[in-house]
Amino acid sequence: MPEKIFIGIAWPYSSGPRHIGHMAGAQLPADIFARYHRMKGDEVLMVSGSDQHGTPTTLRAEQEGKTPAEVAERFHQLHSSNFEKLGISCDLYWKTSEQNHKKVVQDIFLKLYRDAKIFEKTMESPYCPKCDRFLPDRYVEGTCPNCRFDKARGDQCDNCGHILDPFDLENPRCKICGTTPVKRETNHFFFRLSGFEQRLREYLKDKSYWRQHVLAFTMGYMREGLLDRAVTRDIEWGVEIPLPGYETKRIYVWFEAVIGYLSTSIEWARRRGEPEKWKDWWYDPKAKHYYFVGKDNIPFHTIIWPSILMGYDEKLDLPYDVPANQFLNTGGAKMSSGRGVGVWLPELLERYDPDALRYYATATMPEMRDAEFTFEDLAAKNNSELLAVYGNFVHRALTFASKNFDGAVPAAGFLDGADKAMIRNIEEQWRKVGQNLDFVHFKDALREAIQLARLGNQYFDQKAPWDLVRKDKAACGTAIHVAVRTSRALAVIMAPFLPFSSQRLWSMLGYDSNVSEQRWAEALEDMPAGQKLRVGKPLFSKIEEVQAASGGEADMFDIRVGQIVDVKDHPRGDKLYVLQVDLGDEKRQLVAGIRQNYKKEEIAGKRIAVLCNLQPAKLRGIESNGMLLAAEGPADVAILIPPNDVPLGSQLLGKKGASMMGFEDFQKFKFAVGEEHRAYFLGSAGKLRVPLMAGGKHVIADKGMPEGAAVR
Ligand SMILES: [Zn+2]
Ligand SMILES: [Zn+2]
Repeated sequence: MPEKIFIGIAWPYSSGPRHIGHMAGAQLPADIFARYHRMKGDEVLMVSGSDQHGTPTTLRAEQEGKTPAEVAERFHQLHSSNFEKLGISCDLYWKTSEQNHKKVVQDIFLKLYRDAKIFEKTMESPYCPKCDRFLPDRYVEGTCPNCRFDKARGDQCDNCGHILDPFDLENPRCKICGTTPVKRETNHFFFRLSGFEQRLREYLKDKSYWRQHVLAFTMGYMREGLLDRAVTRDIEWGVEIPLPGYETKRIYVWFEAVIGYLSTSIEWARRRGEPEKWKDWWYDPKAKHYYFVGKDNIPFHTIIWPSILMGYDEKLDLPYDVPANQFLNTGGAKMSSGRGVGVWLPELLERYDPDALRYYATATMPEMRDAEFTFEDLAAKNNSELLAVYGNFVHRALTFASKNFDGAVPAAGFLDGADKAMIRNIEEQWRKVGQNLDFVHFKDALREAIQLARLGNQYFDQKAPWDLVRKDKAACGTAIHVAVRTSRALAVIMAPFLPFSSQRLWSMLGYDSNVSEQRWAEALEDMPAGQKLRVGKPLFSKIEEVQAASGGEADMFDIRVGQIVDVKDHPRGDKLYVLQVDLGDEKRQLVAGIRQNYKKEEIAGKRIAVLCNLQPAKLRGIESNGMLLAAEGPADVAILIPPNDVPLGSQLLGKKGASMMGFEDFQKFKFAVGEEHRAYFLGSAGKLRVPLMAGGKHVIADKGMPEGAAVR
């Protein structure tokens, strides 16, 4: 019996690019699962979309001087294109700014309000006296009372995953100006989460098959007691409240974005011209709902979303499993200073075959505990497993057939013990891969799949067809037949994990169809003798050692985060300012030629990127101890802005203590602005692409600069 599988992928925020951790944590496991079930003949509906509202987007928009809608749309486009390049096969990838999404949210809001599951209450909200505004949660930052992390946000601690209220934070500060917020009364709507405790306990009773850490986190959350949660915030970017008198407030993302799973299903059905079709998944008690999310998203999917669903319509299907992953850490600042290459998906996708990334992300998938991304490991796994084991095996089998059997699959004759054992191996590994996938164990599933290629290599070595072809051509033909049959099985078994290379292999095997449209059990079928092969390039290519990417050249620089604390006109240069700059542990005077591009009040207080190891020089009689970095467009100059939440003095490129260089030396190297206004070091040959970063975030040009604009 085909099953009905609904798959939801955590919605990426439209406030910045996603890194490989998001892919390994949620998108990739969901996609493997969807592809596997489609091949099994199950009915799959997989949806996701961009979470466009909320404070991460407005914060970024403020930082860039854009509207939240512009920022949200830009990153929605980026996410969609990344999903496509990675082969994440959603039936619909949507976004929360769509009217049809808003309608579903407002409908749920009103229904819950009428049933008194959402109610109005006066509450105290953090208010910044200096900015003269309420501070919705992410606009407050402080120390987490649970783990002491000092950059916890007002809604959640990124370090320990605890959901927080802004007033839980110790040492709270306004994210915009640093002022301590005060409490001020305002009216908001609350979701009566406390009223769902009994039903949630009932729902969670049979969830012992959940991943242990997911269950533990959920039960811990239940034990702490369920508190009613505010569902509206003082913000103007979001879904409007469908009741009069609340024009300056919006429904907040924690409530609204999860509803996207339902609204996107409805939209998917509408676009197919079968507007009721979504109900097949949402009202069928046999449909299984899987939500693939990172560990920071667990309570939203195991407690809050089920409560919203229960509150709205008791007959709706609740999550069957939430196989949340832990984090694939990317090393943040560590990554930026030495290794030189970003870990952001758009950059990785420019550099690597999507299947190389899919393989690595699955092989290191943080299913049970956090894992660490390194480029060395990416190269090692690609070169020593994907290429040396799988790629090598199919290449050997296919090229041998091509050279010795007229480019066609030889017929199988008498099967000896080794041949039969190899055919049994196909069946055995196929079964193990499927079993692991059924239980959402992706890492083990992939290990069993690659094991089939390993066994194939052993079989090939044991048969030694290069000798056998001279001694017994028929027996050799049998061996090659079995090896090609194993390659065919691999193309099918690998298809959920590595759809692109599986398709290439499928085509080399002489098929014109789409491997992802084959049935899972096709892996066990034999190869027709005489089928013409189309042997081409090897399936995978080697990833060269990436450490060379920074080439040592980046280490010749010492570029740090500074802040302009004073600006004066240069008395003898009408293009020059004299700046006093705070670098955290030292102060410096710089002379900068940006007087025609920036007014004094525009740059006073700005954070800038400072080249610290430039030899001191006198510019029209005034000493300059370093240089401010700026991008030069055809019409204007834009200073480079470091991320706003890293300490002064943070390293943006190279290392502190790098030896001094003269201005002429500096000019031998190239820096430029790339996509998203990000600044890169290109090296002396212009071939590197080392982003200027701190805290895992990019340095960007202050004003719109064309791609390729030089930095001086
Ligand atoms: Zn914490
Ligand atoms: Zn403020």
